[in-house]
Amino acid sequence: MHLAVFGGTFDPPHNGHLALCLYARELLEIDRILLSVSNNPFKQHRSASDEHRKRMAECLSLEINLTGSCSQVSGWELEKQQPSYTVDLLHYVRRLYPDDRVTLLVGEDSFREFPSWKDYEMLFSLCDIAVFRRASIEGGAPPPDSLLQNGSIEVIDFACEVSSTDIRELIAAGQSVSEFLPPRVNRYIREHDLYLHS
Ligand code: ATP
Repeated sequence: MHLAVFGGTFDPPHNGHLALCLYARELLEIDRILLSVSNNPFKQHRSASDEHRKRMAECLSLEINLTGSCSQVSGWELEKQQPSYTVDLLHYVRRLYPDDRVTLLVGEDSFREFPSWKDYEMLFSLCDIAVFRRASIEGGAPPPDSLLQNGSIEVIDFACEVSSTDIRELIAAGQSVSEFLPPRVNRYIREHDLYLHS
């Protein structure tokens, strides 16, 4: 089995996350996608609770599964109730799936932050890494060469310009965001009056 791990704060999940997962599934021939809802140590006052973020990730998972059941949500990082690190998540996944191929899916912005991640070099021996280009950061510093030379990394052209930050700001400004959100996530946000107050 080819398992993908896709971590995020999902505050909220958006069409960029959905498109990335669907694209990864087809391009990389992934059988299963684990959506891991991460702790958000830099939580802003406008952020949704852990419970809401997990429920919205489940909405995202349902949308992914509309075109073939493959994704599930993991609350493992949230349950730890302390800062979570991707390397710990990957060790956990490796223990669960010792014989399977594992690929970590990350956006380019996250990838550029790798050198500040705990034990990031260990990730290269735990999994393959698929990096999805993110148009909004074009023009910034490119990913460090030392990272790109690593054999387990594949950089994938991708352009779906949407971010959770933009969505939170648009909602707080009273603007429509339905075009940026999977329908179930949009419904959930409206039902629970999330992100209304700036
Ligand atoms: P925020 O705006 O709050 O920082 P975000 O939109 O980056 O949020 P996250 O939940 O932090 O969303 O993202 C989870 C993962 O998805 C990260 O690896 C991030 O780089 C990637 N990602 C999110 N949106 C995109 C996008 N539009 N294109 C490519 N990668 C993305």
